[in-house]
Amino acid sequence: MPRGKIVKALSGFYYVQYEGGLVQCRGRGNFRQKKITPLVGDYVEFEYHDKKEGYIMAISERENQLTRPPIANVDQAIIVTSVKQPDLSLNLLDKFLVLVESKSIQPLLFFTKMDLLEEEEESIVREKLAYYQTIGYEVEFLSTKDRELNHQLSVHLNQKVSVFAGQSGVGKTSLLNTIIPDLQLETDNISESLGRGKHTTRHVELITFEEGLVADTPGFSALDFKEIDLEVLPECFPEFVELQNQCKFRGCMHVKEPKCAVKAALDRGEILEDRYQNYLQFVEEIKNRKPRY
Ligand code: GDP
Ligand code: ZN
Repeated sequence: MPRGKIVKALSGFYYVQYEGGLVQCRGRGNFRQKKITPLVGDYVEFEYHDKKEGYIMAISERENQLTRPPIANVDQAIIVTSVKQPDLSLNLLDKFLVLVESKSIQPLLFFTKMDLLEEEEESIVREKLAYYQTIGYEVEFLSTKDRELNHQLSVHLNQKVSVFAGQSGVGKTSLLNTIIPDLQLETDNISESLGRGKHTTRHVELITFEEGLVADTPGFSALDFKEIDLEVLPECFPEFVELQNQCKFRGCMHVKEPKCAVKAALDRGEILEDRYQNYLQFVEEIKNRKPRY
């Protein structure tokens, strides 16, 4: 049976990309008894009688799955943070990192609007943000004014399924428009419509950019943070995970516990103070949260 990947879902049809092209399919396999609905990003087996219409017969097990936008098998989430307009917010960046890490998806950090910084400011910002590289994240500094932008993007998007994330106004739509000039999403306005609940039947599509696939709708929302549990939080900070075995107490939350390796590293200046403060704030936020039920 031919295999392919669902790249678009619309009104009960799934568009499957395979080596022979694109086939419009309906769901038919026994996955339906298991209450599994095909998702954009799914690897599927399908049947077709003519090239125009086919049937999805089986869905391969998913690596991961997002709810907003509904996509399976995401390779990386690109967290977009502007260095200005809106001002650089490490708090929001760290929050998005927690969301992405909690799904075990590889984050990639894009810092945008570099053209808005004065030279002096720029070196300060770059120096600070280099911390994220030291803890293992890939970082890219971008500007839509940059002629190299397309090349910089293709380096990161090739051979992967990517989804953008980040607060409104940081430049996600502008990047998507650079990737797919045909799409021409409206900047600014589109961000409004990305808010929750405005569209019940949202169309999702993976668009091809060179050898990669990119979700045309940004994912994750700072609001999703209310689904993060306290125990999970320290696991979402890779530099803490690295040290946790050296903490005196198992399950150390790195807050007030004695002989905490994370706090020792903080005192030695090896952990970015802002980031640790954000962590403490997230701990408080989760603790003070009203029960969900
Ligand atoms: P989104 O809400 O994250 O999708 O952000 P948009 O792509 O709509 O961008 C918000 C505003 O920032 C728009 O007016 C863009 O033109 C502007 N913008 C985006 N990227 C850059 C950049 O690299 N430099 C400058 N100067 N402005 C940018
Ligand atoms: Zn600790």
